[in-house]
Amino acid sequence: MCGIVGIVTTGKDMAADLVVGIQRLEYRGYDSSGVALLNGSGLVVTKDVGGPSELVRRETFAGLHGTTGIAHTRWATHGGVTQKNAHPHLSCNGEVAIVHNGVLANYRELRTALEGRGHKFKSETDSEVFAHLIEEKLKKGVAPREAVRLSALEVEGTYAFAVVMATHPDRLFALRKESPLVVGFGAERTVIASDPLALADSCPDVLYLDDGELVEVTSGGATAWKVATGAPVARERRKLEGDFEVPERGAYPHFMLKEMAEASLAVRAALHSDPDAVTRGAQKLLSAKRVFFTGMGTAFHMAIFGHQLVAQYARRFCPAVTADELPSCVFHEPGDLVLGVSQSGETYDTLRALRGAKAAGGSTLAVVNVAGSSMARECDQSLLQGAGPEIAVLATKSALSQAVVVARLALEAGRLSGHLDAARHASLLTELNALPVLMDEWRARIEKECQEAAARFLGLEKWFFLGRGLFASIAQEGALKFKEVTYRHAEGMAAGFLKHGTISLIDGEMGTVIFVPPASTGDLRAMTLYALEEVRSRGGPLLAIGALSPGERAHVDACITTPGKGELSDAFLQIVAGQYLAYYTARALGRDIDRPRALAKSVTVP
Ligand code: GLU
Repeated sequence: MCGIVGIVTTGKDMAADLVVGIQRLEYRGYDSSGVALLNGSGLVVTKDVGGPSELVRRETFAGLHGTTGIAHTRWATHGGVTQKNAHPHLSCNGEVAIVHNGVLANYRELRTALEGRGHKFKSETDSEVFAHLIEEKLKKGVAPREAVRLSALEVEGTYAFAVVMATHPDRLFALRKESPLVVGFGAERTVIASDPLALADSCPDVLYLDDGELVEVTSGGATAWKVATGAPVARERRKLEGDFEVPERGAYPHFMLKEMAEASLAVRAALHSDPDAVTRGAQKLLSAKRVFFTGMGTAFHMAIFGHQLVAQYARRFCPAVTADELPSCVFHEPGDLVLGVSQSGETYDTLRALRGAKAAGGSTLAVVNVAGSSMARECDQSLLQGAGPEIAVLATKSALSQAVVVARLALEAGRLSGHLDAARHASLLTELNALPVLMDEWRARIEKECQEAAARFLGLEKWFFLGRGLFASIAQEGALKFKEVTYRHAEGMAAGFLKHGTISLIDGEMGTVIFVPPASTGDLRAMTLYALEEVRSRGGPLLAIGALSPGERAHVDACITTPGKGELSDAFLQIVAGQYLAYYTARALGRDIDRPRALAKSVTVP
């Protein structure tokens, strides 16, 4: 899931730019990082434990020079977080250096065979085999590009690789299979990266590689080849599109706090994106034989949010299934539609689920934030969120903007199907369109109450997050945020489920956050309040999020207040409350908020 950058220049020193490139990709992984540079005196690898920014602070990369090089910021899958396991990895003779994003399924067999032929391994990673495979072929006199290609034919799994060779200091090679890779063309340099963010200010033109392609890169350009056959591939350069300005943290102590403050802007952008595209998407939802909503992590919760609204407004049941499990329980047929939600548009599991649907003759619709991402390019239709870059690993403003996109789809499907009459449709649309203003009005109050609640309940190590209907997805999302950044256990659950077993855990040490829908939801609210009473009667500490009457307030230990004006608007504000609760609890606990341990923003590995 790492970040990869490679640069070839006409002879100019670019070591510092290479490091800046992986710093920009730090959100993809940050447990260790490194660079391999060619600078006239051979191939020099510098790497260590710690993300690129930390290594810059420690001056690990100070004084390096090179005109061609590759760099990596790692999110470990195979082998501990150690200096030796950090990328780049070298061949035995030190003449080939590789960096890898992904997982090699057959690395054990390859490693055993290579060791049998005398190769000495320095790391425990799956990746290192690739350097040794290339070395063997070069030793037999195979030409460099062909050596890389033939080695790629031997590895199974997923990858983006970048390769440099001491014997060919004027070029690098890069190839991909189910991992993103883009080539950028700038003045006196060609760059490869796993995310265009790394190219933003240096390369106006780009070339996106497809799966199974290999590119040979020099300072003057790049040529692409099919890995399977070695045949050349004609690929058009295109203008780099999208918002790649690298955001500043400004006066905020954390990007997460800044991005939460920007949520109303993200919501506004999602409200104003192309209405025709939303109509087309809604028509597809209604005309498909079967529809599945999918995603992973937060994006999955926003997919459930969408599935709830489509059911309510359009009376269409579109089950939401996590993307990792979808391929094992849904056997696609022509006429199926899979709607995938993913901030990055590169999430491995979601891409796999979407590709599976397409391969079986189904169609695909993506809700993505990154223009030009694999999903945006591969899906039959994509709805762009326009939330802008999100730097904190935890999804906040992007989650809210996903919720807007799926809500717009649901409203439009309701209108087109006739299940929402004109008056109800108009009133819901007004409620949705009023969100940015409502969010700005309520943010300060919600933030303050979350900060107080975080301080009050700091001693509690375990939590249930409960909600019903639309609010069940919000409870699950709140619990995920809380776990990700506080490292405390939180189980998100539909409130009705509590009494079927899990209630045995309730005691004075087990906290419950309960997401209470507004009065207009009738039964949904009443049923949610039953769960509240069940917890209260067993002495569990209770934090409610919602609009409670004074009498109801007396039954909880604390309350984070939302306006309670409408189901849809309260749902959004309760997502906001869940985010601030996680943030302030983590802050009080002294956690690394923008980069929680073991996480990465875009999960591009199986
Ligand atoms: N599987 C490789 C490793 O564990 C690459 C992981 C990554 O994508 O960062 O080193």
